[in-house]
Order: sequence, then structure tokens, then C-alpha cells
Amino acid sequence: MGPELARKLRAHGIETPLELAATYPRDYKDWRRPTPLGAIVGAAFARAREPADAESNEEIAVGRIVRVSEFRARVPVVSAEIEDESGRLKATWFGRRGLKLSAGERIFVHGRAAVRRTRGAVSVELNVLHHKILSEDEPYRGSVVPVYRASKELPSRTIAATIERNFEALAALIEDDLPPDVLAKRGYGSRSAAWRAAHQPATPEAAAAARERLMFEEFFGIALAAAIKRAQRKAGGGAPALATAPGLLERFEASLPFALTAAQKRVILEIWADMARSAPMNRLLQGDVGSGKTLVAAAAIVLAATSGVQSALMAPTEILAAQHAQKLAPLLLPLGIRVDALFGNMAGRERDGVLRRLASGECDLVVGTHALIVEDVEFARLGLAVIDEQHRFGVAQRAKLRAKSRAPHTLHMTATPIPRTLAQTKYADLDLSVVDELPPGRTPIETYVLRQSRKALAYAFVRKNVAAGRQAYVVAPAIDESESALTSALAELAVLRRDVFPDLRVDLLHGRLPQREKDAVMGRFSRHETDVLLATTVVEVGVDVPNASVMTILDAHRYGLAQLHQLRGRVGRGVARSYCLLVAPDERGEVERLEILARTTDGFEIAEADLRLRGEGEFAGTAQAGAGPALLGSLISDFALYMRAKADADALVSADPALERPEHRALRRFAAGEETRATLLDS
Ligand code: ADP
Ligand code: MG
Repeated sequence: MGPELARKLRAHGIETPLELAATYPRDYKDWRRPTPLGAIVGAAFARAREPADAESNEEIAVGRIVRVSEFRARVPVVSAEIEDESGRLKATWFGRRGLKLSAGERIFVHGRAAVRRTRGAVSVELNVLHHKILSEDEPYRGSVVPVYRASKELPSRTIAATIERNFEALAALIEDDLPPDVLAKRGYGSRSAAWRAAHQPATPEAAAAARERLMFEEFFGIALAAAIKRAQRKAGGGAPALATAPGLLERFEASLPFALTAAQKRVILEIWADMARSAPMNRLLQGDVGSGKTLVAAAAIVLAATSGVQSALMAPTEILAAQHAQKLAPLLLPLGIRVDALFGNMAGRERDGVLRRLASGECDLVVGTHALIVEDVEFARLGLAVIDEQHRFGVAQRAKLRAKSRAPHTLHMTATPIPRTLAQTKYADLDLSVVDELPPGRTPIETYVLRQSRKALAYAFVRKNVAAGRQAYVVAPAIDESESALTSALAELAVLRRDVFPDLRVDLLHGRLPQREKDAVMGRFSRHETDVLLATTVVEVGVDVPNASVMTILDAHRYGLAQLHQLRGRVGRGVARSYCLLVAPDERGEVERLEILARTTDGFEIAEADLRLRGEGEFAGTAQAGAGPALLGSLISDFALYMRAKADADALVSADPALERPEHRALRRFAAGEETRATLLDS
């Protein structure tokens, strides 16, 4: 190909012949037969109601010209009324000089159909890209046409033509990956046959079968990498095998001011069982906000400390880390567990002291933020890494904490797994424990969606709860006006103090405040020296003030469901009945989405709904990061196929863990982790 086309392909993310070969159609047009004109008109009206992407409005038709008209604007415009048994359509050619069309002729047209509104009249018009006058008995020769993900610069047609021109050369690049017994079991043919049929299918059914075959292979690769990773982790060992002394659970519970819930006990035993093995634990602890995950982590820390290894607990914000340290120290000190805290703003002697105690093993638990993963932080024998609110950390950050020791047990905690994590628990090497019970006396948070025009009602409700001795959060999306048209916290603070709650104690918390100020504001709120805390999303994670019972979120439409769920979790942490009020603009149709939160408090369900609503962009985004074409299949919507591939991959790895059989040799690259898609699985 020429340099210009190569440049366009590169801009599209296609740099090598193999990447071009793996650029699969995202859809197909069944152009084996021309579309009836009536159906084109119907589809155009349907699209006008529900806008789709530009490529999907291309149509082909064969009809007879009824009438031709010509305009001379800046460019010549020729229109022809075309007719078949099903209806009529106006076809238009722009800027085509010397075009000769006459009534009565049979014509083939290919173009973009759209609804046009001209002087009050609504009609469907086909903007013609190609046409051909057909003689009376000349047949139309069509095919199933692939539709590639395209851009303005690089239309699907160009990609199709490029692949077609180089078809045999590209086909020669396709190697077979799947072992023959898997192929036989699933009744699949060779990969190159599937590749041919995916790009140039004879029928839509052939295209679908080819896609399934290719998708299966892709999933098989992912599942195989996960299975190998798991096998290596389980066999590799290296982690301290921590035996649980008899009666440890009872002693731990006795040190608490309340009884553990049944769910907490079950999950603690699952975690302790993992920690008893020399295979490093890799477990996700999911539990709704307020379900008491911190205590579960504390139990893991107790086991580690009584067995003589250190623990690190990493939280995403200083507010949260400080709170953990404050809560855990009095609980753990009586058990002889020495707790330190490490923050980014620590310096000099204080920081040196912590680092020294970590390196010497004097400190059993360090609680901190990202400050924990800094280079010079060293542990004498780190045996347990706990990552709170794991969805707030990147893969690399979590890996850095674990790298502080050879193979520590790792516990990831979250209420709202990000889609990637959600997928990992189902698809990859991450075990799952769920705390599916709230401590006794909690009533589920009641959630209401309000229109902006009824915001005063929300504030009246806040006032009522404050009068009953409770506290409230009000969350605004922006700090000041310069940011956007959103409600700004600073402006709202003025309104609240002057007009809405002049008699109440209102404080402001946002990310740009200096750390000392943030601590002071949080301190006042937790000591009930303030009634209403106006905040940005810095209060999102973990903050625990049990007396707060109302969470009002302004411009709630601006947040993802998972984030709203997190914010909502700041209330309902005590025995008081708690409420979440979501305020959204009058004119926006966001209410339905927000109503999902009013219906459920299940973090998994919410994460899944978020994923469905936003599409799998986020997930695919991680899959694509780095290089190479996007995953062909979708781990979420093609779940059943994935599970079949996973069953085969698991069976293969348990029969031949080191991939020693000749027919499995080719699969070793999955184990080596060279494949970009294998990075999908790092947790
Ligand atoms: P999350 O799972 O959201 O991290 P936390 O660990 O912060 O929840 O716990 C929420 C609140 O519930 C805390 O104030 C904690 O002390 C309290 N709590 C935890 N477990 C229990 C229990 N078994 N009984 C009563 N209160 C509990
Ligand atoms: Mg928590």
C-alpha cells in the first residue's frame, strides 16, 4: 500500500499486517439482495428516532426511475424518484457533472439514507455514493459486506478494500492456536477458514459461526493465561503459611465491642484458610458499604501478627487511612499488635521513625496511603498486604505494595468492584469472598431521586434530621464556578450559610484544602461540632461517621452509579434510619438511571448495571491499553462462550500444567505473558 493509506491505518491503530488481519468487522450488511425501498424508508425513520453511527445508514437498492430533476446550486444536484413494489425513495447525487438519468431506467444505487426535513415536509432521501444502470434482465450481484470500525479519514469501505486486495497474503499469516482435541470437541474448523469467513462471509450465518470460532479462541487464550497464572501461584508458594491457633476467632471477637456477623465470621475463616497455605492468597473481599470489611481485614492482620509477620493496610486517601489507624490501634494494641501510620506529608524524624520500625520488624501493622509504596519503605517481613477500596488503585500501585515482599498474601477490599475486577472474579485468578450481611440494627438506606426544582424539599428534610440530633452530608460536583456550569461547593456554601441553614453549623471539605485543614474539618464533623458537611467527592470513600444519616447529592446525574453508591455509603453506618437524596436537573432524562440506586443496594448489581449502561468501554479500554486490536468478543455479553472456553482451558492446564505435550507447546506464549491480552488478568 502507499504511504498515505499506511498513515491512515496507523492513525487507526493498525501498524502491522497481523494487526490488519485481526481487524475484524464489527458488523455485516446483508447485501446479497437489494433492500426493498419501503424497508429503507422505515429503517431511516427508526434511526432518526434513535441516532446510530454514520456507517449504519448505508443501503443498497434496485428500482426503476420514475422522475428526474436537476438543480443548479453551487454544485449540481440531481435527484431521481425511484420505485419498486414496496415503495418510493428520492435518490440524490451531489456535484456529479454529466450525469445522465432518464425515467423508466432500471438502476442500482448504493448510498446513505437519512430523514430530510424541507419546508415542513418530511421524507427519506438517499445520498448516492455509487450507482449503475442495469439492463432489463441484468441480475444484481451482491454479497455479505463487512462493516469495520471506521473513522472519518478511514471509512469501512477502505479497510474492506485493503483487506480484500491483500487477502491471500494476510490469510497466510493466520496460524492455528487451538489444540486439535479442543477443536474436535467443539466442532470448530481451522482458524484460517474462520478468518476468511469473518472477513468475506458467504452468508450472515457463516459470519456468525466464524466470529464465534475466533471469539472462542480469544477467550481460550485469556482463560488459559488465567489458569496458568493460578496454577503457578498455587504451586509457587513463597508466602508464609500462617496456622491459626485454636480459639483465635473467639479471642478476636471477645476484644470487640460487638459480636461479629455470621458473614464476617465465614469470610474471616475463608481468608485464614488461604493464609494457612504457602501459596500466596489473592482474594477480593466484596461487601456492601458499612458491612464491616475493616474488621475482617483486622482479623487477617491479627493472624499475621500472631504468626510473626507484618501487615500493610493501604487506603486511597489520608482521611480514610487516618481513620483506619485511629480505629484499629485501640483494637489491636491490647492484642500486642503495634500499629504505625505513614502518610505522604510526613517528613523528617517522624517518617524516619516509622521506616526504622518497619525495617526492624518492631512495627506489626502500618496503615497508610500511596506513601507506603515509595521506594525507601522497607519491611522486615511483610506477610499480608491489604488494599482497601481497591477500585481506587491502579494495577501498578497494587503490584508495588506486593513487591515489598517476595509473595505476601493479598486481600483486596471493595464495595463497588470496577468492571475489570468484576470480570476478574468471574474470569481470572482472583478468589472472591462476599460479606453479604450488614451488622444488626441497620436498616437499608432509603434512596429518593428529586428534580432540581424540589431541592428545597431535600434541604427541609436535612433540617428535620438535624433537629432530631443527626448530621448530614451535602455533596457538590465542583469546588468553584470556574470549573463548569455545575453547582459549585463554594457558591452552595454561601447559600447554605446565609439562606438555607443560617442557624446550623455548616462546614466545607474539598480536595484543595491543605491536609491539616481537611483533618480539622473531618475532626469537627466526627465530634458532632458541625451539623452539615458540604463536600466534594473527597468524602466518597470509607469515611465513617455513624451519626450522619442524610446524604444529599447535587447534580447526581454527573456521577456513575458505582460512585453514587459509594457516596451513599457514607450514611447508614449507625443505627439511625438513613436517607440518600439524589438531586438531578429537571430537564434531563437521567432519572431512570438514578432510580436503579433507589431499587438496589447490592454493589455487584450496581457495578453490573453501570457496566451495561456505559457499555464495556472501560473494560475494553484496559484490554486495549498498550497495543493491538480490541478484543473481538465481550467478556460480559458473551459470558456463556467464555465459560465454555474456560472449562477447556482449565481442563488442559490441570492435565498438562507445564504445557509439555507437543500439541500444547504453541500455547506457551500465554504462560510467558507476552500476549497483551494477558495483561488483562493482572490483579
Ligand atoms: P465497610 O465495609 O464499608 O468498610 P466498615 O468496616 O467501615 O465498613 O464498618 C462500618 C461500621 O460498622 C463501622 O463503624 C464498624 O465499627 C461497624 N461494624 C463493623 N462490624 C460490626 C458488627 N459486627 N456489629 C456492629 N457494628 C459493626
Ligand atoms: Mg471500608
